[in-house]
Amino acid sequence: MFIHLYNSSVVMKKTLVLFFVFSFAVGCVSSPLGRKQLIIVSDEQMDQMGSMGFDEMKTKIPKARDQRLVNYVNCVVNPLTKVVGGNWEVVVFQEKSANAFALPGGKIGVHTGILEAAKTDAQLAAVVGHEVGHVLAKHGAERVSQTLAAQGGLEILDKILTGKSNGNKREAIMAGIGLGIQYGILLPWGRTQESEADVIGLDLMSQAGFDPHQSVELWKNMASLGGGQPPEWLSTHPSNETRINNLQAKIPEYLPKYQQAVNRGLHPRCAF
Ligand SMILES: [Zn+2]
Repeated sequence: MFIHLYNSSVVMKKTLVLFFVFSFAVGCVSSPLGRKQLIIVSDEQMDQMGSMGFDEMKTKIPKARDQRLVNYVNCVVNPLTKVVGGNWEVVVFQEKSANAFALPGGKIGVHTGILEAAKTDAQLAAVVGHEVGHVLAKHGAERVSQTLAAQGGLEILDKILTGKSNGNKREAIMAGIGLGIQYGILLPWGRTQESEADVIGLDLMSQAGFDPHQSVELWKNMASLGGGQPPEWLSTHPSNETRINNLQAKIPEYLPKYQQAVNRGLHPRCAF
């Protein structure tokens, strides 16, 4: 009887803790598209992680040498970040793998290799808009929260942020924020996260004055790239036929925003 009571009080305690964690987090956070999210890390912690990961990238991979190419990428990215607001650091990496990423803390990385798939300025805007969409929807925070829950809690994050933890746990967290492939871990985004990033990306590119139809062309190019070896970006942003259908169905909703932007004189023409 005693054991039974003891057990049930432990269960009760756990249930209560879970209830409070769950109700606090789920009650307070929802994605820009209204989906409830379980997030136990703060924006500040995510921003710190993003900055830390980005600084590491900059020490590992050289920056692009061709200033014309850097200007081109900035010509595309600046109108997008203007729509979002805040300060964004943009780095073009001299790296032939087709990849691009955005991190909490206002960081955007573009590999030179992505230009093989993103053949026009609007297609590059679709890539970056999608990436920024993941950040705005706090997808990294969601994934890091899951990883922390599985690995034993928030104290691991403190250790990583204060430089006291390296190795597997650190790599798992870095993979969570969206830098996995750079750390040798492939962590694809989920289907729900992908469609949210697609929709936010469409919104951003349209408001910035890039034709949203080009998002579909981008995914077609991406799919036809690489022969036997799929592009790096596709391995963390799994695609399927329904993605293109969903994008096509959504484009009419965002065309008016694109038209308004063009009418206001926002119609970036970036060339390289
Ligand atoms: Zn994605």
